[in-house]
Amino acid sequence: MNATTPLIIGTTEVPAGQEALIRIPVGRLPTHTRIHMHVWVQRSKKRGPCVLFTAGIHGDETNGVEILRRAISTGLFKHLQRGAVLVVPVVNVIGFIEQSREAPGGKDVNRSFPGSLSGSLAARMARILTKHVLAPCDFGVDFHTGGHSHYNYPQVRYTAGHHPSQKLAEAFAAPVLLAQKPIPRSLRKVAIQEDKPIIVYEAGENMRFDEYAIQVGLDGIKRLLHAHHMLPQAPPPPGQVRLASHSSWLRAKRAGLFLRKCQAGQQVNKGQLLGTLADPYGMEALQIFAPHPCFILAHTNQSVVSHGDALFHLAW
Ligand SMILES: [Zn+2]
Repeated sequence: MNATTPLIIGTTEVPAGQEALIRIPVGRLPTHTRIHMHVWVQRSKKRGPCVLFTAGIHGDETNGVEILRRAISTGLFKHLQRGAVLVVPVVNVIGFIEQSREAPGGKDVNRSFPGSLSGSLAARMARILTKHVLAPCDFGVDFHTGGHSHYNYPQVRYTAGHHPSQKLAEAFAAPVLLAQKPIPRSLRKVAIQEDKPIIVYEAGENMRFDEYAIQVGLDGIKRLLHAHHMLPQAPPPPGQVRLASHSSWLRAKRAGLFLRKCQAGQQVNKGQLLGTLADPYGMEALQIFAPHPCFILAHTNQSVVSHGDALFHLAW
């Protein structure tokens, strides 16, 4: 983006060298209360990339909201040397209010892109993000956590086979980088169709702050912007960055009490005991073993599980 290129978010123009908090109308609640999507913008005086940071597309995934809040409140972006940063800490404003992953009607905003202004609230939020916020951006990071009591070890997912996406993931340098196809109708999918790489940072659990996940996310933002000459300095990458191209869920073969013996972030060997599934009466316990050498990307924190529930997310 050139320093003289107009940067218009919604109906507001942000001149070079300025910051702004822009409220874009999303719709009304049944009470007719207006709701807005807030977009925080910092624009430097020099030409450079326009970077998008989004969180809270799933309304109960709060680590990303806190990562972006902390980045703004500590003045991180005030050191911007070139380009611009667009930050949306809460995309799914209704889900956030209701502490729910979905928007009203059980609609998943991250399965609603590119969205429609005549559709549901989820479709409207997706459309507003695509039309008004993604449009001027060159690349970005979408922040998530595990859902449904799953804990995700800090990891970045990037679009497999798309070199600029991989470079972005490497610049962010989370402890694990996972090459994956984008999910249909997700923000990452519509962005890549416009040749705009978006990486997804997944860390921690829904409705729980996790200081490690928050800190790794903040460090990733700094490294990514530093790699694009937008910030003067950044923390060094973690000692080991794991690359994975395959992942699968290990599911419960029977219902019961789930007693976990390993945790996300651990490398395990073939045949290593991961946990047990027991009946509540002390009669039977089924042991769960690692099917092959792998890294544990995520695990459930549920103590009681049903047949078929996801227990561990394994990568290799
Ligand atoms: Zn999510």
